[in-house]
Amino acid sequence: MYAQIAVPLPIDRTFTYSVPEEICGEIVIGMRVAVPFSGRQLNGYVVGLTEKKPPYPVKKIGNVLDPFPIFNEEMLQLNRWIADYYGCSWGEALKAASPPVVKKVRKEKGAVETDPGAKSSFLIPTSEQQEALQLIEKCLHNRSGVVLLHGVTGSGKTEVYLHAIARVLERGQQAIVLLPEISLTPQTVERFRSRFGERIALWHSRLSAGERYREWVRIREGKADIVIGARSAIFAPVKDLGLIVLDEEHETSYKQAETPKYHAREVALERARAAGAVVILGTATPSLESYFQAGRGNYKLAQLTRRVDDRVMPEVEIIDMRKELITRGNRSVFSFFLQQAIRETLERREQVILFLNRRGFSTFVLCRECGEVVRCKHCDVSLIYHSKTDRIHCHYCNCQQEKPQFCPECRSRKIGYLGVGTQKVENEVAKLFPQAILGRMDSDTMTRKGSHARMLNSFRKQEVDILIGTQMIAKGLDFPRVTLVGVVSADTALSLADFRAGERTFQLLTQVAGRTGRGDLGGKVIVQTYNPEHYSIQSARLHDYAGFYRQEIKFRQELGYPPFKHLINITLQSPNQDRLIKLAQSLGKLLEAGAEKGVEVLGPVPAPLPRLKSRWRWRIILKGNKVCQMREVVKESLTQLKGPASRGVKILLDIDPMGML
Ligand code: ADP
Ligand code: ZN
Ligand code: ZN
Repeated sequence: MYAQIAVPLPIDRTFTYSVPEEICGEIVIGMRVAVPFSGRQLNGYVVGLTEKKPPYPVKKIGNVLDPFPIFNEEMLQLNRWIADYYGCSWGEALKAASPPVVKKVRKEKGAVETDPGAKSSFLIPTSEQQEALQLIEKCLHNRSGVVLLHGVTGSGKTEVYLHAIARVLERGQQAIVLLPEISLTPQTVERFRSRFGERIALWHSRLSAGERYREWVRIREGKADIVIGARSAIFAPVKDLGLIVLDEEHETSYKQAETPKYHAREVALERARAAGAVVILGTATPSLESYFQAGRGNYKLAQLTRRVDDRVMPEVEIIDMRKELITRGNRSVFSFFLQQAIRETLERREQVILFLNRRGFSTFVLCRECGEVVRCKHCDVSLIYHSKTDRIHCHYCNCQQEKPQFCPECRSRKIGYLGVGTQKVENEVAKLFPQAILGRMDSDTMTRKGSHARMLNSFRKQEVDILIGTQMIAKGLDFPRVTLVGVVSADTALSLADFRAGERTFQLLTQVAGRTGRGDLGGKVIVQTYNPEHYSIQSARLHDYAGFYRQEIKFRQELGYPPFKHLINITLQSPNQDRLIKLAQSLGKLLEAGAEKGVEVLGPVPAPLPRLKSRWRWRIILKGNKVCQMREVVKESLTQLKGPASRGVKILLDIDPMGML
């Protein structure tokens, strides 16, 4: 017998191996096997078996690595689709979808601890929730359909998911719930656990290999029928998939940064289509892509326009920081208005969240004489001063160095520390409100296992008055005593070199604003900005998604950006700048020549981040209507490009990129 094996290397073909007599009986399509491959051992995937002898000599398969196939035909085909769409090999796609290889499984308690006494009952749906559920019900009955559940923060989307899942279980089917990694808070998981108990399985990157494997087996054996997890939970081996829920569908963390660079939403749509399952895309701020599809009738739109119990949306005040400095002479991080609001909130014994999407203390260090900014030796970015280490850090390559005593350019000793990060915010708040107890949540403070949950817990118990943090605190938190949210600067996302900057800003402000007014005490949001007229900020102020969408979609159409066109980012990187530029130019010419009508080639130009980890970076962008057509052009050009000139240059493809750096 002979086996077709897909290997996890960037080679888009399968390889034939012979199956040794002694394992002929146990080998099945969908298993992992060890195979010799140019002098080393690889874990390959059996994707075909045949008795036909190939006309060339073949090597033998080594060990079989699984007691049962880890992929059925449905999952093999789903991964074939990923390989085709995202331009990687079948083996690379399968690797990303695999459970860990585990030699011996120890019997430990499951990753999900349950307290059977804690089961809570279902709430009676509001009329808007009822309408959404009827729509979902109809789709479940037809075994097809995508529902975009557009509900303002606190409108009860999660409750809709819970009801919909209960219906799926009644039908004897299973459900997968995807959450952005950041939302996999104990709080969220607890809501699912208290409804469904031991029927849930958890799947995320913080599980150990053993825990992951055990959860995977539980799902496969049908012992769990609700899988809750981050991106890769989309590959959970459920038998009869009825529903996929993607919460916060607009989140960029659904796009994997490494090969295969898949978007969990696109994979979910494909898996559901093939399996006859329904997809719910839930969010308060739909991605332009999804809302556009709903507008065209390709998705069904369900809207939750009101918060539960008709709680009002928080009032949002925009503070023009230009005026703050010029007319009031205020150099503080905080406008007088925000300072006053914090003071009043603390006096009422209520809680405050302060949000800033930049960690560190000062976000750039510069010479006050000549203006030279201190940059990373390896990356073309400014270094960030951290007060904890009293050193300057690069947030891209993580290197650190002593803070400079004098300017490297002009030797002046007048070194300035400008720009504000979360450490500085904490510092300033401590000076202004010495009696308040502060907590900070960013990736510098949340390094230990469990620190995230611990901080949220003390905030809930009101042991902390003011919580300061990055986007880590923007989502999912539900604390009734938070009545003030201060956005220290709304401009961090706006300044990104990305066509989605406006969308990101609107989403972030809306999410952050949603953290207040969740109890009976009401809530207020104060947004500080140097761009008070920007439509993203104004629409967020008015809680006006439709208004934001109208402006943004116009801009996307005019410039031919998604959802009107697909993009492919081609990044070339190399330590050798001359070779890189030459190769980028050759590739640009090949692409131009190969591009059919409707495919546009932009560049080559230096990437927005022109140097990273000692590598220079250049960029070519393709714009077009059909990904398959665009990828074909890229494939042909890359084949022609191979040769000595391409040595030492890495070429990375990103189909439908979510970040443009
Ligand atoms: P979202 O996911 O849209 O932010 P949630 O589902 O978290 O909203 O709901 C917000 C709050 O309202 C939660 O405390 C939830 O328990 C409550 N809630 C949701 N639906 C109902 C309902 N039908 N009746 C009463 N309370 C509800
Ligand atoms: Zn200088
Ligand atoms: Zn660096």
